[in-house]
Amino acid sequence: MSTLRFKAVEEALKRAPVDATTPGKMPSEYFGKYVFNRSQMSKYLSKETMEIVLDAIDSGTTLNRDIADHVAAGMKMWAVEMGATHYTHWFQPLTEGTAEKHDSFIDYSDGQRNNIIERFSGKLLAQQEPDASSFPSGGIRNTFEARGYTAWDPSSPAFIIDETLCIPTVFISYTGEALDYKTPLLKALSATDNAAVDVCKLFYPDVKKVYSFLGWEQEYFLVDKSLYYARPDLILTERTLLGHESAKNQQLEDHYFGAIPPRVGSFMQEVEHEAYKYGIPLKTCHNEVAPNQFELAPIFGETNLAVDQNLLIMSLMHRIADKHNFKLLLHEKPFAGVNGSGKHNNWSLCTDTGIGLFTPGKNSHENLLFVTFLVNTLYAVYKNNALLKASIMSANNAHRLGANEAPPAIISVFLGKQISAVLDKLENSSEDDEISVDELKKMKLGVAHIPEVLIDNTDRNRTSPFAFTGNRFEYRAVGSSANCSSAMTALNSVVAAQLIEFKKEINKKTEKGMKMEKAIYETLRHYIKESKAIRFEGNGYSEEWKEEAAKRGIDCETSVPLIYDSYTTAQSVEMFESLGVLNEKELHARNEVKWETYAKKIQIEGRVLGDLCLNHIIPVATEYQSMLLDNLYKIKTVFDKDKIEKLSWEGAAIIEEIAEHISAINRNVHDMVEARKVANKIEDAREKAIAYHDTVEVYFSKIRYHVDKLELIVDNRMWTLPKYRELLFIS
Ligand code: ADP
Ligand code: MG
Repeated sequence: MSTLRFKAVEEALKRAPVDATTPGKMPSEYFGKYVFNRSQMSKYLSKETMEIVLDAIDSGTTLNRDIADHVAAGMKMWAVEMGATHYTHWFQPLTEGTAEKHDSFIDYSDGQRNNIIERFSGKLLAQQEPDASSFPSGGIRNTFEARGYTAWDPSSPAFIIDETLCIPTVFISYTGEALDYKTPLLKALSATDNAAVDVCKLFYPDVKKVYSFLGWEQEYFLVDKSLYYARPDLILTERTLLGHESAKNQQLEDHYFGAIPPRVGSFMQEVEHEAYKYGIPLKTCHNEVAPNQFELAPIFGETNLAVDQNLLIMSLMHRIADKHNFKLLLHEKPFAGVNGSGKHNNWSLCTDTGIGLFTPGKNSHENLLFVTFLVNTLYAVYKNNALLKASIMSANNAHRLGANEAPPAIISVFLGKQISAVLDKLENSSEDDEISVDELKKMKLGVAHIPEVLIDNTDRNRTSPFAFTGNRFEYRAVGSSANCSSAMTALNSVVAAQLIEFKKEINKKTEKGMKMEKAIYETLRHYIKESKAIRFEGNGYSEEWKEEAAKRGIDCETSVPLIYDSYTTAQSVEMFESLGVLNEKELHARNEVKWETYAKKIQIEGRVLGDLCLNHIIPVATEYQSMLLDNLYKIKTVFDKDKIEKLSWEGAAIIEEIAEHISAINRNVHDMVEARKVANKIEDAREKAIAYHDTVEVYFSKIRYHVDKLELIVDNRMWTLPKYRELLFIS
């Protein structure tokens, strides 16, 4: 009989909510308490230093060593007063999550090594050389010369966690190539800023800076800790590789509207308080569609900072979940048959003068600016739809896309009825029309009349991977465990490159004597015509859309290793290089890492699946089968021939069914292992990943099918793995 499973269920059922540690104050009194933010800086830095640092943050100027020394002194004083004893450069390697190497502040104060003091210099603040050999580099950095260094990013404030001062940094190889997510993101944001300012100046010459904003919505599952530890697949792969759907799952949609379970409420309360201490402005926490699935979202902020805050909150959530006797699942698809978890990236651009570039304006001039940015984004997404898909793709996310209420692995743009109508009218207005801005109203383009309701997001299509939602785009294809940098680097880059092209086109036309407005309209009209294929207002979850998208020439590739190829096409390389975001060598190296990661993930899943089948499923099924056989024999000894026929036919059929499933599992596991052996011999990372995708992963669903059938047949008391109804409905 299974004991661990039933013990786990018992423990989970007995649990009471764990009290949330709450500061007992209003958030405004402790918001950003652990962050060396502007208000702390003003207390610990001289006025001059402060001004130079703020200028560096706002305009990206470089800080010299002297200033770094001043900042380090102030930062250390603040950190020590807050109880910090260590410091670390906090960076984002190409694996998931963040990395850090802790050093103590202590040092000898004198040559005789008599006195210990706390020391922290500008040099230590600005640059570090972690032993980086174990982080993936895609061959850029050989392990024998493990030199990579981290360098301070002053635009994201330092913070204290567990008595350690964490300093956000970029991570670069000794030869200058990016080994992390942050470096290209910062470059992409700067490219967007420059390109967008140039375009804004056509309308408003006083614009000096354009900010990229990100508001992420983090979805996640919580599973009781004891149940989690009774599932080796969850422990080792963060998803259930086996498990029959629960008789009831999300079809009634009662979880979405239901009350938050008390244990979860307590967890959320604590997450909220901790987030506030770290200056993360959490705004909403609520249930999601699937049972035991939830979401939280902050007020949006500058993209680089928002990315860091997302990474920080993911790690805070892990430890707070643990305290509340839960395990946090950030995997994109922990459970088959119910919704997966995404991380919608709400993205917009805004000028330093306060103009939201995706916000419909109040007059025709503002609206032309709005349409300009909207159409350029549309065109950029159209031209780079395959690349954008590559930026959000992973072994995990591949399970989510195209399954249960998730966007398909096809990028399309939803604009909504009104904006679509505006673009249609614009497209169909005559080429020869001399269109001045003031004539907008006369032409009834509708641009000047976009009603305010749009801003309320009433027109929504939840099935679109990239949707316009009134004043921003919502990039919904991003996965819940992802570092948003990947998607944000790609998106900001393609839009920056497009805006540069647009500006060139306008210059060309106006230099030939065309009026500015006409030049803009003509160019936009051309873009609208060209990019039509990317616009889709229908149901993105439908099968018809897949066919239609293929006809339209939108990228429909579903094999993860092949999707990554979009990063190294001539078009992508040209685009990233021209912006200075990533060079060809970096792009190739990063793909190597992606392919390696993909192959490793599938390899681990394959091993766990094989082990579970051989050690859990088959022994239990065989045992149950023996019981039935035993029973059948006994029936035969007790009853006469006529009765046996009547009484035992079902037993025999079940025995046969079990035998068939067992042999199918055995055969498929055996074949999968053989396929793995072949794949493992392949040296080339891309070829290996393709082999894992094409020849290994294909067995997962075949094996699972038979296991899940057995789960329905075998005696519940014998089944060792907690079932979906237990994992999903106990909280
Ligand atoms: P919904 O679930 O309806 O999409 P939420 O309120 O859960 O809405 O999340 C919306 C997210 O979008 C929040 O993080 C919010 O701060 C963010 N957001 C709102 N306006 C903008 C904007 N102009 N730019 C970027 N993000 C935005
Ligand atoms: Mg949303």
